[in-house]
Amino acid sequence: MDKEIIKKIKGIVGRQRVLESFEERLCYSYDGTVQRGIPALVVFPENTQEVAEIVKLANEKEFPIFPRGAGTGLSGGSVPQDRGIALVLTRMNKIKEISKEDLLAVVEPGVITEVFHQAVEKEGLFYPPDPASLKTSTLGGNVAENAGGPRAFKYGVTKDYVLGLEVVTPQGDIMRTGGRTVKNVTGYDLTRLIVGSEGTLGIITEITLRLLPKPQAKQTALAIYDKMENAAQTVTAIICEGIIPATLELMDQTTIHCVENYLNMGLPLDAEAVLLIEVDGSPGQVVEEMKLVKVACEKNGCRQVQVAAEATERDRLWKARRAVSSAIVQLKPTKISEDATVPRSKIPEMVRRLKAISTKYNLYLPVFGHAGDGNLHPNIIADKRDHEEMERVEKAVAELFQAALDLGGTLSGEHGIGLMKKTYLVWETGDVGINYMKAIKNAVDPKGILNPGKMF
Ligand SMILES: Cc1cc2nc3c(=O)[nH]c(=O)nc-3n(C[C@H](O)[C@H](O)[C@H](O)COP(=O)(O)OP(=O)(O)OC[C@H]3O[C@@H](n4cnc5c(N)ncnc54)[C@H](O)[C@@H]3O)c2cc1C
Repeated sequence: MDKEIIKKIKGIVGRQRVLESFEERLCYSYDGTVQRGIPALVVFPENTQEVAEIVKLANEKEFPIFPRGAGTGLSGGSVPQDRGIALVLTRMNKIKEISKEDLLAVVEPGVITEVFHQAVEKEGLFYPPDPASLKTSTLGGNVAENAGGPRAFKYGVTKDYVLGLEVVTPQGDIMRTGGRTVKNVTGYDLTRLIVGSEGTLGIITEITLRLLPKPQAKQTALAIYDKMENAAQTVTAIICEGIIPATLELMDQTTIHCVENYLNMGLPLDAEAVLLIEVDGSPGQVVEEMKLVKVACEKNGCRQVQVAAEATERDRLWKARRAVSSAIVQLKPTKISEDATVPRSKIPEMVRRLKAISTKYNLYLPVFGHAGDGNLHPNIIADKRDHEEMERVEKAVAELFQAALDLGGTLSGEHGIGLMKKTYLVWETGDVGINYMKAIKNAVDPKGILNPGKMF
């Protein structure tokens, strides 16, 4: 990168907050995908003004900016394209306000999701979005990807909790969207436009988040199935009982084997599938709902339902679910995590199609995920050094997306498009949809400064 530009950036943020060496830049060249691209510079702003000045400079000198939170993304969204700046927002990590009266919080984008959960729960409040990466991911990254998680089934996803934003526009101006009220229909809904825009339409520098009162009680159960089909049917059966569990997570046999191998916690290796089911609410409601859940499981061919008697047992079950990503890469080193999502009623058919794709292309394809909202996570486990295998992976991914769309679903329930799915975006949006999106991008970012090459 031009020495004059580097000097100016150091003038904005100070030399301590700029990384220049190859080794340091390499650490910001990846995310949770196979994508790689080394930035020319890594910069850590500490306030909105610094972000705005850097973006203005980028417009003047025409270099790209790749916004970055914790780099846990699963679509290549934060990966620099071997040029420009990786703008890392992790130092903007203050929780500025938690208001019990207004049931909201105001935070900077670099706050770690789990740190925020703990802070609001200390006040008797609740912030539901819980991506499985919550120990590492940032709230800014969650907003930019519109992250979901196991609790999305009952509580919705990040967009359902964002009341307002402060955003540095692609031209370096500071804009406020939304506010502190649940109701706000003043003009276009720019908050919703920025949520899920994957760092292409603005840099989020402050977030106002809606909170809920913390549920008083919860109960968690593991339901064990000899047949995957029965597990998939139970998902709809539970809903037909009139219950919306806080979470309803599915793991297939390959996933169960990997987790057991990794944690050695006594999971049933002969089961074709397990469901992890959690209900929450008042103590009485939780007991009643768990009774009905058990009935629905048993009526649908469940071999056994283990209800966690204590918090330690519940934590153990959740540990198994949260270890899935680490556990499945024991099969082979390269994980292609997809999150094609289908209407809930199509889960049994989607699982059947995924198994057929796995057999057809002779690939490991463990299936797990948020069965309650149809957001399965078919992960293809391969070795990127094996070119012949990677060709089969590419074909399998295309078929997997087609299957989701055929069943009335979507390419991505929560990971976004980024680099990984941009070739397929048009399959879902059509030309008119994609051109509308491009027109928005070109109008606000005519020089293509923010996250160029992503999404389209
Ligand atoms: C093990 C594992 C489990 C996961 N589980 C889930 C899950 O259950 N649900 C789910 O939804 N996702 C999940 N993810 C994906 C990922 O964690 C989420 O997308 C998360 O929201 C990314 O946050 P991050 O801080 O790491 O963002 P990054 O990966 O750094 O960035 C993600 C995108 O956001 C943009 N961005 C980041 N910060 C800003 C900002 N301040 N302003 C503008 N743009 C910004 C980047 O440019 C990029 O496009 C998982 C990932 C892993 C590795």
